[in-house]
Amino acid sequence: MQVMICAYSERISWSTPPIAPSPGHARERSMDCGRARELNLDGLRGRISAETAAELREHLSTCARCRAHAAAERVLSDVLDSLPQHAAPLSLKRRLAERWPDPLSGTSPPRRSWTPRWPALATAAAALVLVVAGSTSLFVEQRAALRQLESESVNDHLRVLEGAPLARVTGGLHEVKPWFGGKLDFAPAVHFAGSDDFPLEGGAVEPFLDRRAAVFVYKRRLHTASLFVVPSEGLAFPPELQTQTVRGFHVALWQQEGQGYALVSDLELQELLELQAQIASR
Ligand SMILES: [Zn+2]
Repeated sequence: MQVMICAYSERISWSTPPIAPSPGHARERSMDCGRARELNLDGLRGRISAETAAELREHLSTCARCRAHAAAERVLSDVLDSLPQHAAPLSLKRRLAERWPDPLSGTSPPRRSWTPRWPALATAAAALVLVVAGSTSLFVEQRAALRQLESESVNDHLRVLEGAPLARVTGGLHEVKPWFGGKLDFAPAVHFAGSDDFPLEGGAVEPFLDRRAAVFVYKRRLHTASLFVVPSEGLAFPPELQTQTVRGFHVALWQQEGQGYALVSDLELQELLELQAQIASR
């Protein structure tokens, strides 16, 4: 992964010698290619004025080479943003430290003994690259699995809103829970029977990825919050609460005692977190 990034950025900078704007296009291209490329990254991060951004867009719309450059920069920037901040394993740090001469020690090794260490150091550096690349692809996989969970939760919430049949309850959890019996192969660990602020409206069983979820539907004024509970094994539910906004809905995901929880609503995040705290407290 690291090597690929280096090769990529070198290709970008080497294949793009400074280009003077062609006189014939001076009017359409008020920004020249050099300036456009300088501004690309700041543009991506929203650090340029609206006016400059408009000029940059205009340049990109007429210049295929700068468009390609901008696309490459976006990919590179996405990859760098997704890199984990993992520390190298301790054993690797020790191996690297052993091979690096100690600048503080009075007995610095004679030069001739340093030279043969280079191959070893190169091997250690290569190992570091492998560790980073390995953990990066694992991290990217985990992130993709998390995005899939979030997306599934929102899709299922939309199904609830569209009127998936709910077992209506008037008397709280003790009416919902027996209703799940026989429909699920696990007992959903939910103890929050609703409150005046978040009345429990009902329950349902819905497909959730490769399994069936117990669905609890809570209300808050005119808003609906769906809670999906599934056995968490094999799914990417985070051990600690994580929230994300997906297609305008807030999604809270967490895991507790072998069950995965997804709470979805268009409620304000603050209110959703209040509800989440009630559900997660035992
Ligand atoms: Zn250009």
